[in-house]
Amino acid sequence: MIKLRDKYFESYIRAEKIKQTIDQMAKIVYKECADEIPLFVGILNGSFMFAADFIRAYPGQCEVSFVKLSSYQGVQSKGKVKQLVGLTEDVTNRTVIILEDIIDTGTTLEEIYTIFRNKKLKQLKIATLLYKHDVYKKGLHIDYIGLHVPDKFVVGYGLDYVGLGRNLNDIYTLTIPTMTNIVLFGPPGAGKGTQAELLKDKYTLKHISTGDVFRYNIKNETELGKLAKSYMDKGDLVPDEVTINMLKQEVERNADAKGFIFDGFPRTEEQAIALDNFLTEKGATINGMVALEVPEDLLVERLLKRGETSGRPDDQDEDKIRNRFNEYQNKTAILKDYYAKQGKYYGINGVGTIEEITERLTKVFDKL
Ligand code: AMP
Repeated sequence: MIKLRDKYFESYIRAEKIKQTIDQMAKIVYKECADEIPLFVGILNGSFMFAADFIRAYPGQCEVSFVKLSSYQGVQSKGKVKQLVGLTEDVTNRTVIILEDIIDTGTTLEEIYTIFRNKKLKQLKIATLLYKHDVYKKGLHIDYIGLHVPDKFVVGYGLDYVGLGRNLNDIYTLTIPTMTNIVLFGPPGAGKGTQAELLKDKYTLKHISTGDVFRYNIKNETELGKLAKSYMDKGDLVPDEVTINMLKQEVERNADAKGFIFDGFPRTEEQAIALDNFLTEKGATINGMVALEVPEDLLVERLLKRGETSGRPDDQDEDKIRNRFNEYQNKTAILKDYYAKQGKYYGINGVGTIEEITERLTKVFDKL
């Protein structure tokens, strides 16, 4: 995938395929014009690559010229009229073959026909590399067509988007970028929630904290809340099946998100596998696991301090906190390996001021 100005494009027709197509076209044209010297006329700017390659592939003698169709405000006539700039050759009695990069609505083609109509040519032929059959509205004859393309925006190989991309060897089409999904990882109290809130705006990602979703459900006394409460209050993990379903629902509720920061999920290998499968179905993936590394003593201190104001039962006493660490050590910590094996693990020093840690995270997020 490539980015031109504000948009993303993916390769659609490879350079090799373009070359094959042009070689074939050149041979066909040669067969039909072998007994004379045709004048190939490339329409600038878009056709410069096609014309150059076509002419090189043309096995016989030929002449080449380039013209530009430019709009000017007619003095007598109303509205815009196109004129041809650059044609200096005498074309009387010649076979002129127009080389176009793309024909879509046919407006340019119509203008070309109009301009050449009174030039007393022997014959006028049209060769285009690309032809958008779904949008072509004119009945005018096109003699040689390289490739049929659907009604998609195309760029590259001479074609541009806001002036850019003409130098690309392949032809690309507009695409919606795939999602960016990041697992923000670390033991309880590592600062995942605080950092996710700061980073989600900077990267326009949706922050999903499974702990927050559970607490919301407990507060609103939903079925899910009632189920989760007994586990959470003790500092145990909520069963995988429940958590995975909830996570999927949260993602589906935000179907238009550019991507997600997963905070507190996955916490078991089963959850990590479920998340991978779920994202794959959506044509997406986890771009990276970014882990905040903080020594346990400091974490206990942070959690007890948070417990003074958070109102969270699981932050209130040291036994519950220790149990959460046990859960983390037994079930969650192994996920470091799970993502490291995929080359997706990024460890960050989680000790410092909030700003310092945000800065460290930003450096990694920028790469993902
Ligand atoms: P947190 O707010 O991330 O510290 O989560 C608080 C509690 O919610 C945990 O101790 C678990 O009881 C429960 N919880 C949150 N996320 C998960 C998860 N992915 N799997 C199982 N339980 C979870």
